[in-house]
Amino acid sequence: MNKGKAPLLLIVSSPSGAGKTTLCHKLLAEFDDLKFSVSHTTRQPRPNEVDGKDYYFVSNETFDEMLENDLFIEWAHVHGNRYGTSRAEIRTAAVAGRDLLFDVDFQGARKIREQYPDAVGLFVLPPSIEVLRNRLAKRGTETAESLERRFKAALDEIRTHDLFDYLLVNRELDIAYDQLRAVLIAERIRQSRVAYVAQEMIGL
Ligand code: 5GP
Repeated sequence: MNKGKAPLLLIVSSPSGAGKTTLCHKLLAEFDDLKFSVSHTTRQPRPNEVDGKDYYFVSNETFDEMLENDLFIEWAHVHGNRYGTSRAEIRTAAVAGRDLLFDVDFQGARKIREQYPDAVGLFVLPPSIEVLRNRLAKRGTETAESLERRFKAALDEIRTHDLFDYLLVNRELDIAYDQLRAVLIAERIRQSRVAYVAQEMIGL
């Protein structure tokens, strides 16, 4: 990749329970020139999460301050907490010549693409609605009510599929992963992104 060139912005979204996190972790492990866009959030860390790696875990006051200083490209309320992507994430990736992987919800995907129309959006679907419901139920310490709420939210999220360039059904992890890496590899050689190579060759 070319230092100083605009990074490829790859947005991966899904309803919770579709296996997006596993897919993203695999992609980041394979491609070290791809950087995870670390979001800021006001939610509490989960036991295995690391501050600065999974998220920047911040207080409501810090989040408010960042908003006042216009430090976010986008932010949204998701499941009762606030999440935001800082402008610094894109700047740092551009300087380092690395592409960026965003794990954001559909609101974030929409706002990033409004500002960066070249950003690529990929949506991960579960194999079926039944599987999604079972996975959500298994995760939870949840009451029937909160499970129902999360299930409805997942359906709403799936309704936004037309915001994305690619729809990937996560039926079998290996196949889904091959599809995800194929998107990254192909998008990296999209003509508009690498036109400069041809132009340099002919001295333009
Ligand atoms: P979780 O709390 O399970 O890590 O994430 C909940 C949801 O928030 C996921 O759908 C995730 O993609 C989304 N999310 C994480 N970071 C951001 C962000 O910076 N902006 C937006 N809009 N959504 C985010």
